[in-house]
Amino acid sequence: MEKRTRTRFAPSPTGPLHMGGVRTALYAYLFAKQKGGDFLLRIEDTDQNRFVPGAEEYIIEALHWCGIKIDEGVSAGGKFSPYRQSERKEMYRKYAEQLVESGHAYYAFDASAELDTARKLAEAAGKTFSYDSSSRMNMKNSLSLPKNETSRLISENTPHVIRLNVPVNEEIRFTDLVRGEVVFHSNLVDDKVLLKSDGMPTYHLAHIVDDVLMEITHAIRGEEWLPSAPAHILIYDFLGWKEQMPHYAHLPLLLKPDGNGKLSKRDGDRLGFPVFPLEWKDPATGEISSGYRERGYYPEAFVNMLAFLGWNPGTEQEIFSMDELIRNFSFHHVHKAGARFDPEKTKWFNQQYLHKKSDEELAKEFLPVVERELNSPQSAVCSPQFVQRICGLVKEKATFVSEFWNLSSYLFIAPSEYEQDVITKKWNENSSKFFNGFIENLQALTGFTRDDIDKTIKQTAADTGIKPGEIMQLLRVLISGRGSGVDLLGMMALLGHDEVCSRLERGLLNVKEKVQ
Ligand code: GLU
Repeated sequence: MEKRTRTRFAPSPTGPLHMGGVRTALYAYLFAKQKGGDFLLRIEDTDQNRFVPGAEEYIIEALHWCGIKIDEGVSAGGKFSPYRQSERKEMYRKYAEQLVESGHAYYAFDASAELDTARKLAEAAGKTFSYDSSSRMNMKNSLSLPKNETSRLISENTPHVIRLNVPVNEEIRFTDLVRGEVVFHSNLVDDKVLLKSDGMPTYHLAHIVDDVLMEITHAIRGEEWLPSAPAHILIYDFLGWKEQMPHYAHLPLLLKPDGNGKLSKRDGDRLGFPVFPLEWKDPATGEISSGYRERGYYPEAFVNMLAFLGWNPGTEQEIFSMDELIRNFSFHHVHKAGARFDPEKTKWFNQQYLHKKSDEELAKEFLPVVERELNSPQSAVCSPQFVQRICGLVKEKATFVSEFWNLSSYLFIAPSEYEQDVITKKWNENSSKFFNGFIENLQALTGFTRDDIDKTIKQTAADTGIKPGEIMQLLRVLISGRGSGVDLLGMMALLGHDEVCSRLERGLLNVKEKVQ
């Protein structure tokens, strides 16, 4: 029987979740949901020194904002509880001891001063120290020491770690879902620490024990773990867990926009865009790093953009809902090369999602801004339909709802100043002639649709012998104060007959005073 697909996202709570981490979670989620399986959240907090308060809550909130639903894990519970590694501490030792017993791991008693000396010696010889098959017999461990010495050190509770005993001269192979067949030579693999002197497992041991106990079928993680993969393959093998070993997928790195190097947490806002999904306040320094949510991005746009950082559907389609991503995602279309982050494309995605929203939805977002700016409840100023129609007019010009006010304030508040450059450049005697006639014609109108207005402009132009092109920008300035903006006829129809006439009269007075 085919195993139920189970993927996990296993972040360490060392700070806010970087967008690369969100992408890892997203791919793991898409794959699990496509297969009708489960997506787990496991918190890997075995490195107590790097623990940051609030990070776990941040991770959960970020996934929630993105629409990534946790089936099982720290926030959701489940039959393999607990899902926080620090709470599973007691489970790991026995596997480390089992490896020692079978000769696949060993106790190492080297104090940090001794390791430092080894490092310095290597450096002096122009090498980098590696605790591995070439150096282990010169170190203080149960392979290099006589048996009774090891027993004595253990019985005296001498601080020690357990290290993996990597075999010499072997090829270690596995098939990666992204990279295909991968081969490593064991002589280049170091004897990784599996259990630390504080009794906590390292990531290398803990994630394997947990992936097996939690019945994970696909371990999807960042490329930075690829060099450690051979050690992991060996551990599975040595524990007799070849059958249970999940398929590994190592996802490509996220690169800075110029392609030079990894986009890291430290980049913060330095490059002019956020690297975190949500805003983060560093609990130690109080420093704030911005987030996509607070910048006004839609989670759907953020997720769509992230999905494309390393994957493509193999077609021209770029806009994908979460359900479409679930249906279309495939590791065959995840590329091996690093994915360059493009902040402009990210804005483009938001724009596409904004344009797809109905005027009604946008009005809900925009109303609080209107009320704040006008300093009064919207109902006291205008109808909800008025705000909706404004949204319809401005959305084509915007990427974020936060831009709506600047794009439309003149629709709520009649202008008191008029863009002088346009007037200086365009106003002439013909203009006066046209506008005098135009106001008269407008006043006589009974309907006030775009069409009515359009006809009136054309009629007045014909009557006065002036080309409409000559006066359109002036008309805009007289009504809105600005030389450019939303669709002119739409704006006039929205403001309505009385408001347009009164704005025109005021505008004309103002202009005439200035041009005389
Ligand atoms: N705790 C590891 C990390 O944050 C998890 C890697 C994995 O998914 O196995 O990178």
